[in-house]
Formats: sequence, structure tokens, C-alpha cells
Amino acid sequence: MSTEKGTISINTENIFPVIKKFLYSDTEIFLRELVSNAVDASQKIKRLAALGQFNGELGDLVVDVKFDKDAKTITISDNGIGMTAEEIKKYINQIAFSGATEFMEKFKEAKDANEIIGRFGLGFYSAFMVADKVEIESLSYQEGAEPAHWVCDGSTSYEISKGSRTSRGTDVILHINEESEEFLDKFRLQEILDKYAKFLPVKIRFGTKSTTEKDGEDENGKPKYKTVEVDNIINNTNPAWTKAPADLKDEDYLSFYRELYPYSTEEPLFWIHLNVDYPFNLTGILYFPKLKNEFEVQRNKIKLYSRQVFITDEVKDIVPEYLMLLHGVIDSPDIPLNVSRSFLQADSNVKKISNYITKKVADKLQEIFKTDRKGFEEKWNDIGLFIKYGMLTEEKFAEKANDFCLLKNIANENYTIKEYYEKVKDIQADKDGNIVYLYTSDANQQDSFIANAKAKGYDVLVLDGPIDSHFASYLEQKGGEKVQLKRVDADVIDKLIQKEEKIELKLSEEESKKVTEIFNKAISRKDMEVHVEAMSEEELPVSVTIDEFMRRMKDMAKTGKGMGFYDSLPDHYKVSVNGNHPLVKRIIESSEEDAEKLAKQAFDLALLSRGLLTGSDLTTFVKRSVELI
Ligand code: ADP
Repeated sequence: MSTEKGTISINTENIFPVIKKFLYSDTEIFLRELVSNAVDASQKIKRLAALGQFNGELGDLVVDVKFDKDAKTITISDNGIGMTAEEIKKYINQIAFSGATEFMEKFKEAKDANEIIGRFGLGFYSAFMVADKVEIESLSYQEGAEPAHWVCDGSTSYEISKGSRTSRGTDVILHINEESEEFLDKFRLQEILDKYAKFLPVKIRFGTKSTTEKDGEDENGKPKYKTVEVDNIINNTNPAWTKAPADLKDEDYLSFYRELYPYSTEEPLFWIHLNVDYPFNLTGILYFPKLKNEFEVQRNKIKLYSRQVFITDEVKDIVPEYLMLLHGVIDSPDIPLNVSRSFLQADSNVKKISNYITKKVADKLQEIFKTDRKGFEEKWNDIGLFIKYGMLTEEKFAEKANDFCLLKNIANENYTIKEYYEKVKDIQADKDGNIVYLYTSDANQQDSFIANAKAKGYDVLVLDGPIDSHFASYLEQKGGEKVQLKRVDADVIDKLIQKEEKIELKLSEEESKKVTEIFNKAISRKDMEVHVEAMSEEELPVSVTIDEFMRRMKDMAKTGKGMGFYDSLPDHYKVSVNGNHPLVKRIIESSEEDAEKLAKQAFDLALLSRGLLTGSDLTTFVKRSVELI
């Protein structure tokens, strides 16, 4: 074969400097592209052998990545299908895009290397991001094929001649350019291979590594060890997600988790094995991590693969937001990985995949709930936040999660939303037919209010999580007919759940006015509004409450968007004076000075009971108490 020169069939002067410069930020993906090509070539020969179209020796299929610091080269070699000179001309020279004009137009809009590579099939050409010159040495599997050598210096012209390979397969030799010398480094290359090639389906070898091996026994019968050099194989060619769920035990899932996240110290709670082939292709394993009671920054993110090639761990548009708290892998050749984010959002496959994952996650939770409710309840502390968040953000998920979302009360009992409705619907119905759910956000601080509710035979839920104020509103909308949620300290208990029977106020209108005046004077705080109310004698003389609506809006403003207005409002309390309490009679009958002292004392007591009395106010209270004893 004589040397042949030609021009790569694109009509622009010199496209490579453009690619190189433009793609600068993700240059490391050249290795992903070239190693993937080598893996594809290896799999193709395997397939041909399986089909009986190749009868030669298959050998041990392995892709080698080597570098030579002095020669400034990186070589990717495979013993795959190989290419004839004709095939090189066909596959490599004709860049798969319709024309240079289109390319030049489109590249201006493109945001990253992935986008350009994907759109124009420039996988192989990504080599020119890091190399001045690229050579191919290849020998096709076909009988009688001649080895071919191709070389291109980054201009649009190439040279093809007789090659030197004597065994089937391809070497791609990159002559690394000056700006990319960082890649001529063992650790840098190892890092890139670990990232992109860890689960490729064909063995990837990167030099050798030393390990210790048993070497007989010493004279005392103790084992001896020696250091040996072994192949440094980067990848597990058969990762758990590619296997059938029936072939995997719990231990396999756990050890795969450790393989994915070697630095993780916590074990996952449970997992879901994803496996569909219609209407799209998707496999994967999602793990439920142990969550702290806050949205911690997730270090272990879901990794996205396409046919076992790592693509990204930025899965924002493919996985619904609430599922981003999960860990694991998703592998789908159907996700358009090489296009821009805006395209991803509009892509119907992506939407379908996201819906599918939501459904699978909901189904799995439902299954655990049904088959092992006790175990499910035990895990609730870890998964509750995640489930509630999902319900608040994803309607489809909420529809299913309504059946297994748990409500916990202060007695530590768990109820589903339906069960809880049944439990309280009679006893906690008010005179207008509203079903009032009482809840506490801090059982310690709201203890006296909880005690009052319990004394009435009411139940109190614990909603003390970071998004529970939003969840309270969700329950009102979706948790059953006429459900209202009120925090136990939102008012005095008889006001929280107003029943038909009315308690008579024992004070005359004039006395009532007088009591209000005394208290207003004694308290003299703008944020406290005094009301005299008819309550039963056993209740506290004074209670300090904070309106449910305002408080919840403020809480939600802290964890939600666009409600900052509420957060900026000052706290506003209601002081409910129990007009039927004997103390109030005493106050009316006392001298002005004593009346004020008693009123102040009763008010401070109310503040104290909810942890609002602190500092010098607390000291004054203690002193006054001593005087009053
Ligand atoms: P893509 O991989 O997306 O098709 P590339 O530019 O990366 O685009 O490669 C173009 C073609 O060149 C491949 O489809 C394949 O036919 C051929 N090719 C590339 N690398 C190899 C290799 N190592 N062995 C055999 N064929 C290869």
C-alpha cells in the first residue's frame, strides 16, 4: 500500500484549533471518548464471534492505557475489531456532520464540550483537544487485512499508509500538546479513568500496581508475604446494576454501595433495583441513605452512566429534585447525554424516565410498608423527611405516598394519614364540623399546652421537622375533609377546638374591662394583646399564645421562597386571661398596687411555662415570687 494523502471532508480551513480552544474546560473527556471507542471495538469483535462471523482467537479482551512522559504520548490500545485503511477513511475522516457552515454556526451557541461532541459525532476528534498530532495504527479482524497507519496533525489534512500492527486491534497515539502536559501524569490519568471507566464492560488496564501476596511460611509457621507487580485493572466489568436482581443478595448491594462510595461510613437503609427496556432503556440501583434531620450537602451523588460509561453526577433534570437525596447509579443509553440542559428539560424521554423513577421509588416504599410495617416505622426517622419533601414537590409521588406517609404523635405511635383521620375525627371535631389536628413543634417548650390538650382527651402530633410547617398546610389540603392543623400553643385549648357548649363568663362587662386595663398596665408590651376569656376554672389564669396563621407563614418563610415579607414581621402574642379563674377575682378585689403585682406574676408564669421568660425578667419574677409566698 502506498502512502496516500487526503483532506478531511469538512470545508473549513482549520477546525481543530476551534475545537481545542472552545472545548478547553472539559478536556479530560478525550480519554472517556477514546476508551469508549476501544471498548466498543472490543465488544463488536465479541459479538461477531458469538454470531459465528469471526472464527479466530478472541483472546483476553483488554484496553490498555499507557503514557510516555519523555515522548509526550498517551496511547489507547485495544484488541477489538480493528479498521482497514478504507474504514479509517470512512469512519474517521468523514466527520459526522453535514457541513462546516452549520458547525461554525452551532458551535457559537453550544455551552460545553459534551454538547458539541454529541451533536456532531466528534468523539474521536476530541483527541485534538489535548494533542497536536494523532496517529492510528490498526489491523482489522478481517482475513487478509493489511495494517493501516493514519496520522493527522490537527489540520484538515491526513496521511494514510501501511501500518505496523501485527495483531488485531487499534492503537490511538496522542502526541500531547504543550498546554495539556498535565495528562502525562500517572495520578491524573488514574483519576480520570477512575471517574469515567470504573464500570466499563471491558477490562481497562493502566500499567501495573504492587500488591502483597502470600509467600509460604517462616520457620515458626507464620505466613510470609512478598510484594508483586500485577496488572492495574481500573474497572469492575460486571457491576451490580447490570445483573439480574434475582442473582444478587443484600450483601452484594451493600458491597456495591461501598464500591461506588469508598469514603462513605454509613450503610444505606434500603435500595431499589431499576430495570426497564420499554418505552426506554434504563437500569440502575438507587440507595436510600441515612438522612440527618436537615438537608445536608450530599457528597454521594447519583451517578449517571450510558452503557456503563460514566457521564455525570449532575442529574438535576433527569431525577426529580426530591430524589436527589438518594445515592446510586442510573444507566440509560436513551438519555440524550450530550446535549444542553435546556434540551434535557424539554426532552420527553427524560420526563418519562423521571416519572418512572418516581413510580418505582413510591412502589418500593409501599411494598416495604405493606410487608414490614414495623421495619418501615423504625426507618421513618430517616426517610420521613425525604417522603414529605417528595409529597410537597411531586404530585404523582404524593398520590401514592398518601397511603404510607406516617404521622407520629407524642406517645410515639404511628398512623397513616387515613388512620389518623379516623382516630380523631369524632373527638376533635369542632362545632363547625372542622376536624382539628393538634400538633407540637417542640414538646418540651409546649408541654403545658400539650398537658391541657391531653386533659381534654385530645391527641397531639409531633411535627418538628424542618419542612413540617409546609407539611401541615399539605395535610389541610389533602389529608382529609375539613382538616385543620393548629399548633397546641396557638390558642387556649377551648379555642383551638371550639365545642358547642359555651362556658359562661363570671365577670360583668365592667369587671372584664377593668381586668384588661390592669393587665395591659402590668404587662405594657406592644407585642402582647390582652383578652379576657371564659374558660373553665381549672385552666391556667393566663396563657400566652401565638396565632397559627401568622406563625406558620413565618415558619414557611424561613424554608420557602418568596415569603420573606412574613419573616420580617415581629412576633405577636395573645394574652388570654381566664376570667373564671379565682385569681382574677382576687385581682379585682385587691388594691391597685397588689393587683398589678399579681397580674404581672400570672403573666410571667405564662411566659415561663413556654420558655419565654429569660434574663433579668426571670430574675425579677423569682424575686417577686419570694415576696408573694
Ligand atoms: P462515534 O464513536 O460516536 O461513532 P467517533 O468519532 O468516536 O464517533 O468514532 C467514529 C468511528 O470510528 C466509530 O464509530 C468506529 O466505527 C470507528 N472507531 C473509532 N475508534 C475505533 C477503535 N478503537 N476501533 C475500531 N473502530 C474505531
